[in-house]
Amino acid sequence: MKNSKFLLISTFMSMDSLYENSDLVIFGVGFDGTTSNRPGTRFASTAMRSEFYGLETYSPILKLDLEDFNICDIGDLELSIGNTEMVLNEIYKGTSNIVKDNKIPFMIGGEHLVTLPAFKAVHDRYDDIYIIHFDAHTDLRDEYNNCKNSHATVIKRIWDIVGDNRIFQFGIRSGTKEEFDFSLKQGHTYMEVGSIDTFEDVVKKLTGKNIYLTVDLDVLDPSIFPGTGTPEPGGIWYREFEKIFGILKDNKNNIVGCDIVELSPDYDNTNVSTITACKILRELCLVICNNKK
Ligand code: MN
Ligand code: MN
Repeated sequence: MKNSKFLLISTFMSMDSLYENSDLVIFGVGFDGTTSNRPGTRFASTAMRSEFYGLETYSPILKLDLEDFNICDIGDLELSIGNTEMVLNEIYKGTSNIVKDNKIPFMIGGEHLVTLPAFKAVHDRYDDIYIIHFDAHTDLRDEYNNCKNSHATVIKRIWDIVGDNRIFQFGIRSGTKEEFDFSLKQGHTYMEVGSIDTFEDVVKKLTGKNIYLTVDLDVLDPSIFPGTGTPEPGGIWYREFEKIFGILKDNKNNIVGCDIVELSPDYDNTNVSTITACKILRELCLVICNNKK
Protein backbone atom coordinates (compact mmCIF):
# COMPACT_ATOMS: atom_id res chain seq x y z
CA MET A 1 0.00 0.00 0.00
CA LYS A 2 3.02 2.25 0.11
CA ASN A 3 2.79 5.38 -2.12
CA SER A 4 -0.87 4.79 -2.84
CA LYS A 5 -3.66 6.97 -1.58
CA PHE A 6 -7.22 5.72 -1.22
CA LEU A 7 -10.06 8.18 -1.08
CA LEU A 8 -13.37 7.40 0.51
CA ILE A 9 -15.75 9.53 -1.55
CA SER A 10 -18.41 10.09 1.04
CA THR A 11 -18.63 13.86 1.40
CA PHE A 12 -18.99 16.72 -1.05
CA MET A 13 -15.62 17.74 -2.40
CA SER A 14 -13.86 20.28 -0.19
CA MET A 15 -16.67 20.25 2.38
CA ASP A 16 -14.65 18.31 4.89
CA SER A 17 -13.88 20.83 7.63
CA LEU A 18 -14.40 19.67 11.19
CA TYR A 19 -17.97 20.27 12.33
CA GLU A 20 -16.72 22.34 15.27
CA ASN A 21 -14.89 24.71 12.92
CA SER A 22 -17.56 24.98 10.23
CA ASP A 23 -19.75 27.98 9.46
CA LEU A 24 -21.93 26.12 6.98
CA VAL A 25 -23.25 22.58 7.43
CA ILE A 26 -24.54 20.50 4.52
CA PHE A 27 -26.86 17.55 5.06
CA GLY A 28 -29.05 15.34 2.91
CA VAL A 29 -32.70 14.54 3.58
CA GLY A 30 -33.84 11.70 1.35
CA PHE A 31 -37.60 11.98 1.74
CA ASP A 32 -40.14 11.88 -1.09
CA GLY A 33 -43.14 10.49 0.76
CA THR A 34 -45.81 12.99 -0.37
CA THR A 35 -44.66 13.23 -3.99
CA SER A 36 -47.77 13.38 -6.18
CA ASN A 37 -46.31 12.73 -9.61
CA ARG A 38 -42.96 10.95 -10.11
CA PRO A 39 -40.98 9.94 -7.00
CA GLY A 40 -37.18 9.66 -6.70
CA THR A 41 -35.89 12.77 -4.94
CA ARG A 42 -34.75 10.58 -2.04
CA PHE A 43 -31.73 9.67 -4.20
CA ALA A 44 -30.60 13.27 -4.82
CA SER A 45 -27.91 13.77 -2.19
CA THR A 46 -26.14 10.47 -2.94
CA ALA A 47 -26.12 11.18 -6.68
CA MET A 48 -24.87 14.72 -6.09
CA ARG A 49 -22.00 13.65 -3.84
CA SER A 50 -20.42 11.61 -6.63
CA GLU A 51 -21.11 14.06 -9.49
CA PHE A 52 -19.75 16.97 -7.47
CA TYR A 53 -16.22 15.70 -8.09
CA GLY A 54 -16.58 16.71 -11.75
CA LEU A 55 -16.59 20.38 -10.70
CA GLU A 56 -13.73 22.55 -9.49
CA THR A 57 -13.68 24.12 -6.04
CA TYR A 58 -13.12 27.56 -7.63
CA SER A 59 -15.92 29.65 -9.14
CA PRO A 60 -14.59 32.03 -11.79
CA ILE A 61 -17.94 33.84 -11.91
CA LEU A 62 -17.94 34.60 -8.17
CA LYS A 63 -14.14 34.63 -7.81
CA LEU A 64 -14.46 32.54 -4.68
CA ASP A 65 -13.06 29.13 -3.76
CA LEU A 66 -14.57 26.46 -1.50
CA GLU A 67 -11.08 25.83 -0.14
CA ASP A 68 -11.14 29.25 1.55
CA PHE A 69 -14.21 28.51 3.69
CA ASN A 70 -15.10 26.18 6.53
CA ILE A 71 -17.87 23.92 5.29
CA CYS A 72 -18.73 20.41 6.36
CA ASP A 73 -20.97 17.77 4.89
CA ILE A 74 -22.35 15.74 7.79
CA GLY A 75 -24.08 13.17 5.60
CA ASP A 76 -27.70 12.17 5.30
CA LEU A 77 -30.12 12.49 8.17
CA GLU A 78 -31.50 9.15 9.32
CA LEU A 79 -35.26 9.17 8.72
CA SER A 80 -38.25 7.03 9.66
CA ILE A 81 -39.31 6.66 6.03
CA GLY A 82 -42.98 5.72 5.75
CA ASN A 83 -44.05 7.88 8.68
CA THR A 84 -44.28 11.47 7.44
CA GLU A 85 -44.98 12.96 10.86
CA MET A 86 -41.91 11.32 12.37
CA VAL A 87 -39.76 12.33 9.39
CA LEU A 88 -40.79 15.99 9.74
CA ASN A 89 -39.93 15.86 13.42
CA GLU A 90 -36.54 14.31 12.67
CA ILE A 91 -35.74 17.03 10.12
CA TYR A 92 -36.80 19.69 12.61
CA LYS A 93 -34.56 18.25 15.33
CA GLY A 94 -31.61 17.73 12.98
CA THR A 95 -31.79 21.30 11.69
CA SER A 96 -32.34 22.71 15.19
CA ASN A 97 -29.15 21.09 16.42
CA ILE A 98 -27.14 22.77 13.66
CA VAL A 99 -28.76 26.17 14.27
CA LYS A 100 -28.20 25.90 18.04
CA ASP A 101 -24.50 25.33 17.35
CA ASN A 102 -24.44 28.75 15.60
CA LYS A 103 -24.02 27.25 12.16
CA ILE A 104 -25.93 27.81 8.95
CA PRO A 105 -27.87 24.73 7.81
CA PHE A 106 -27.94 23.86 4.10
CA MET A 107 -30.28 20.98 3.38
CA ILE A 108 -30.39 18.90 0.23
CA GLY A 109 -33.83 17.34 -0.33
CA GLY A 110 -35.81 15.41 -0.93
CA GLU A 111 -39.15 16.74 -1.97
CA HIS A 112 -40.17 20.27 -1.10
CA LEU A 113 -42.09 19.39 2.08
CA VAL A 114 -38.74 18.96 3.84
CA THR A 115 -38.38 22.75 3.80
CA LEU A 116 -41.17 23.17 6.36
CA PRO A 117 -39.44 21.59 9.39
CA ALA A 118 -36.03 23.01 8.40
CA PHE A 119 -37.52 26.48 8.10
CA LYS A 120 -39.28 26.09 11.46
CA ALA A 121 -35.97 25.29 13.12
CA VAL A 122 -34.31 28.37 11.60
CA HIS A 123 -37.35 30.52 12.44
CA ASP A 124 -37.09 29.50 16.12
CA ARG A 125 -33.76 31.32 16.15
CA TYR A 126 -34.54 34.23 13.80
CA ASP A 127 -38.16 35.26 14.11
CA ASP A 128 -37.49 38.34 11.95
CA ILE A 129 -36.89 36.39 8.75
CA TYR A 130 -37.79 36.63 5.05
CA ILE A 131 -38.19 33.76 2.59
CA ILE A 132 -36.93 33.76 -0.99
CA HIS A 133 -38.55 30.94 -2.94
CA PHE A 134 -37.63 29.72 -6.44
CA ASP A 135 -40.06 27.25 -7.97
CA ALA A 136 -42.16 26.43 -11.02
CA HIS A 137 -45.06 25.88 -8.62
CA THR A 138 -46.83 28.19 -6.20
CA ASP A 139 -46.88 25.52 -3.42
CA LEU A 140 -49.66 27.61 -1.85
CA ARG A 141 -52.46 25.02 -1.72
CA ASP A 142 -54.08 24.83 1.69
CA GLU A 143 -54.30 21.04 1.34
CA TYR A 144 -53.57 18.43 -1.26
CA ASN A 145 -55.63 15.22 -1.33
CA ASN A 146 -56.89 16.12 2.16
CA CYS A 147 -53.30 16.41 3.34
CA LYS A 148 -52.17 19.64 5.02
CA ASN A 149 -48.47 18.77 4.89
CA SER A 150 -47.46 18.15 1.28
CA HIS A 151 -44.88 19.34 -1.23
CA ALA A 152 -47.80 21.24 -2.81
CA THR A 153 -48.69 23.11 0.42
CA VAL A 154 -45.26 23.86 1.85
CA ILE A 155 -45.16 27.60 1.19
CA LYS A 156 -48.71 27.99 2.53
CA ARG A 157 -47.61 26.27 5.75
CA ILE A 158 -44.68 28.68 5.98
CA TRP A 159 -47.06 31.60 5.39
CA ASP A 160 -49.15 30.26 8.31
CA ILE A 161 -46.04 30.87 10.45
CA VAL A 162 -44.73 34.18 9.10
CA GLY A 163 -47.81 35.89 7.58
CA ASP A 164 -47.86 38.62 4.92
CA ASN A 165 -44.96 40.52 3.32
CA ARG A 166 -42.33 37.92 4.19
CA ILE A 167 -42.39 35.50 1.25
CA PHE A 168 -40.91 36.36 -2.18
CA GLN A 169 -41.57 33.87 -4.98
CA PHE A 170 -39.80 33.78 -8.36
CA GLY A 171 -40.14 31.79 -11.57
CA ILE A 172 -43.63 30.58 -10.64
CA ARG A 173 -45.70 29.29 -13.58
CA SER A 174 -48.03 26.58 -12.26
CA GLY A 175 -50.78 26.47 -9.66
CA THR A 176 -54.53 26.83 -9.20
CA LYS A 177 -56.35 30.11 -9.75
CA GLU A 178 -56.92 30.29 -5.99
CA GLU A 179 -53.20 30.02 -5.33
CA PHE A 180 -52.36 32.79 -7.79
CA ASP A 181 -55.17 34.95 -6.37
CA PHE A 182 -53.84 34.40 -2.85
CA SER A 183 -50.63 36.07 -3.95
CA LEU A 184 -51.33 38.37 -6.89
CA LYS A 185 -54.79 39.65 -5.92
CA GLN A 186 -54.77 39.38 -2.15
CA GLY A 187 -51.08 40.21 -1.77
CA HIS A 188 -50.24 37.63 0.88
CA THR A 189 -46.92 36.86 -0.83
CA TYR A 190 -44.85 38.64 -3.45
CA MET A 191 -44.83 36.62 -6.68
CA GLU A 192 -43.08 37.08 -9.99
CA VAL A 193 -44.68 34.84 -12.60
CA GLY A 194 -42.36 32.95 -14.94
CA SER A 195 -39.25 35.11 -14.51
CA ILE A 196 -36.77 36.70 -12.10
CA ASP A 197 -36.61 40.23 -13.52
CA THR A 198 -37.48 41.95 -10.22
CA PHE A 199 -35.14 39.78 -8.14
CA GLU A 200 -32.50 42.49 -7.78
CA ASP A 201 -35.02 45.11 -6.58
CA VAL A 202 -36.46 42.70 -4.03
CA VAL A 203 -33.08 41.56 -2.77
CA LYS A 204 -31.85 45.13 -2.35
CA LYS A 205 -34.77 45.78 -0.03
CA LEU A 206 -33.77 42.71 1.98
CA THR A 207 -30.18 43.85 2.52
CA GLY A 208 -29.28 43.38 6.17
CA LYS A 209 -32.31 41.17 6.87
CA ASN A 210 -32.23 37.48 7.72
CA ILE A 211 -33.13 35.37 4.70
CA TYR A 212 -34.12 31.72 4.33
CA LEU A 213 -33.55 30.65 0.73
CA THR A 214 -35.43 27.67 -0.71
CA VAL A 215 -34.67 26.53 -4.25
CA ASP A 216 -37.06 24.07 -5.86
CA LEU A 217 -34.92 23.09 -8.83
CA ASP A 218 -37.94 22.63 -11.08
CA VAL A 219 -37.83 26.43 -11.44
CA LEU A 220 -35.29 25.63 -14.18
CA ASP A 221 -36.60 24.88 -17.64
CA PRO A 222 -37.10 21.11 -18.07
CA SER A 223 -35.11 21.24 -21.33
CA ILE A 224 -31.99 21.85 -19.24
CA PHE A 225 -33.24 20.20 -16.04
CA PRO A 226 -35.40 17.14 -16.81
CA GLY A 227 -34.36 15.36 -13.60
CA THR A 228 -37.31 16.33 -11.45
CA GLY A 229 -40.67 14.87 -10.49
CA THR A 230 -43.00 17.59 -11.79
CA PRO A 231 -41.32 19.22 -14.80
CA GLU A 232 -43.03 22.39 -16.02
CA PRO A 233 -42.08 24.08 -19.32
CA GLY A 234 -41.35 27.81 -19.42
CA GLY A 235 -38.62 27.83 -16.79
CA ILE A 236 -35.54 29.93 -16.16
CA TRP A 237 -32.04 29.16 -17.49
CA TYR A 238 -28.89 28.36 -15.58
CA ARG A 239 -27.50 31.74 -16.74
CA GLU A 240 -30.24 33.43 -14.76
CA PHE A 241 -29.05 31.62 -11.66
CA GLU A 242 -25.63 33.13 -12.29
CA LYS A 243 -27.29 36.55 -12.11
CA ILE A 244 -29.03 35.52 -8.89
CA PHE A 245 -25.76 34.43 -7.26
CA GLY A 246 -24.04 37.66 -8.31
CA ILE A 247 -26.86 39.82 -6.96
CA LEU A 248 -26.88 38.00 -3.61
CA LYS A 249 -23.10 38.37 -3.38
CA ASP A 250 -23.08 42.07 -4.34
CA ASN A 251 -25.80 42.88 -1.81
CA LYS A 252 -24.06 40.88 0.91
CA ASN A 253 -27.41 39.32 1.74
CA ASN A 254 -27.48 37.48 5.03
CA ILE A 255 -28.66 33.93 4.33
CA VAL A 256 -29.24 32.13 7.64
CA GLY A 257 -30.70 28.91 6.20
CA CYS A 258 -30.92 27.35 2.76
CA ASP A 259 -32.13 24.33 0.88
CA ILE A 260 -32.24 22.91 -2.61
CA VAL A 261 -34.95 20.37 -3.31
CA GLU A 262 -36.69 18.25 -5.96
CA LEU A 263 -33.74 16.86 -7.90
CA SER A 264 -34.81 13.39 -8.98
CA PRO A 265 -31.60 12.13 -10.53
CA ASP A 266 -32.86 8.98 -12.22
CA TYR A 267 -35.10 10.86 -14.69
CA ASP A 268 -32.05 12.27 -16.42
CA ASN A 269 -29.64 9.51 -17.39
CA THR A 270 -27.14 12.03 -18.78
CA ASN A 271 -26.68 13.23 -15.15
CA VAL A 272 -26.67 16.82 -16.38
CA SER A 273 -29.52 17.68 -13.99
CA THR A 274 -27.47 16.33 -11.09
CA ILE A 275 -24.39 18.29 -12.19
CA THR A 276 -26.51 21.44 -12.51
CA ALA A 277 -27.79 20.91 -8.97
CA CYS A 278 -24.18 20.47 -7.81
CA LYS A 279 -23.10 23.71 -9.41
CA ILE A 280 -26.00 25.58 -7.81
CA LEU A 281 -24.97 24.03 -4.49
CA ARG A 282 -21.36 25.15 -4.94
CA GLU A 283 -22.25 28.72 -5.89
CA LEU A 284 -24.74 29.09 -3.05
CA CYS A 285 -22.26 27.72 -0.51
CA LEU A 286 -19.70 30.27 -1.72
CA VAL A 287 -22.14 33.17 -1.54
CA ILE A 288 -23.46 32.19 1.90
CA CYS A 289 -19.96 31.83 3.38
CA ASN A 290 -18.71 34.99 1.69
CA ASN A 291 -21.66 37.04 2.99
CA LYS A 292 -21.70 35.61 6.49
CA LYS A 293 -21.62 38.38 9.07
MN1 MN B 1 -41.94 23.28 -4.71
MN1 MN C 1 -41.93 22.76 -7.97
